[in-house]
Amino acid sequence: MTAHIEGLHHVTVISGAAQENLDFYSKALGQRFVKKTVNFDDPSTYHLYYGDEAGTPGTVMTSFPWAGVPKGSVGAGQVSITQYAVPKGSLGFWVARLPEHGARLIAEEEVFGEARVVFEDPHGLILALVEADDARTPWLADGISADEAVRGFHGVTLALHEAAPTVAILTDVFEYHEEGRQPLGSGEVIRYRAGHGESAGIVDVHLDPSMPAGRDGAGTVHHVAFRVADRVAQMEIQQRLTAAGHQVTAQIDRDYFWAIYSRTPGGILFEVATAEPGFDVDEPLESLGAELKLPRQHEAKRAKIEATLAPLEI
Ligand code: ZN
Repeated sequence: MTAHIEGLHHVTVISGAAQENLDFYSKALGQRFVKKTVNFDDPSTYHLYYGDEAGTPGTVMTSFPWAGVPKGSVGAGQVSITQYAVPKGSLGFWVARLPEHGARLIAEEEVFGEARVVFEDPHGLILALVEADDARTPWLADGISADEAVRGFHGVTLALHEAAPTVAILTDVFEYHEEGRQPLGSGEVIRYRAGHGESAGIVDVHLDPSMPAGRDGAGTVHHVAFRVADRVAQMEIQQRLTAAGHQVTAQIDRDYFWAIYSRTPGGILFEVATAEPGFDVDEPLESLGAELKLPRQHEAKRAKIEATLAPLEI
């Protein structure tokens, strides 16, 4: 095989009000706001992106904010925890900081030998900060030093009633390998790691047949995207998914990357996204996120779209 999945690209979530989402991810968690655009399929709503300085794949959290959208519930068939990497020794800082910004702490625990704090963001999305050795250069926001700053994603946890059909994609198509297992409640967690790439390479499968099914809504993950270098690699992954019997979309231009999507047997929507062209394709690196960027197909309706969207204070 010549095309490789190199870890995560981004995680896209459904959130509540846009301003609250922006404040939490840029100020409380200290990610850089790298793109203000609209949902390409529904340009009356925002699509907001957060990451490191450049929005490097593996650091990118994105949200579809819908003020007043009913709250979802996290359960089987969803990404249940989105995990960020933070430096060793920084959890005390975060445990003190997060509740001051509207987060609710759920647990301080150790999983696969890694200390982590699990919490809900202000709209109920479950996140974990995991202490890890991670060489990535962090974006530094006000009040957060390099000794504490988020490095990007560590990985995701997938909640499943049945592991094998979804795990087959991870191992046989994406080249992840199993690294360990540990019991969790009435089920277990199985850790997989990307066979290629060096960051955001973890996928934990939380297997529990008795877990309630999740329901989409505010505070849930819409989809998780894995990264490939370019469109050639993406096409090879698309062919491998098809050959394994899965439905996959055509390659779709998302302006900042190319995307393919496949609904996995366990119900979770997987995307495979390219590292190219990146977020500086339509504005300079220095001023990422400063202006509302619209895809070509919606540019003619800019005045109408801007009138619909609530202004954001960065
Ligand atoms: Zn996506």
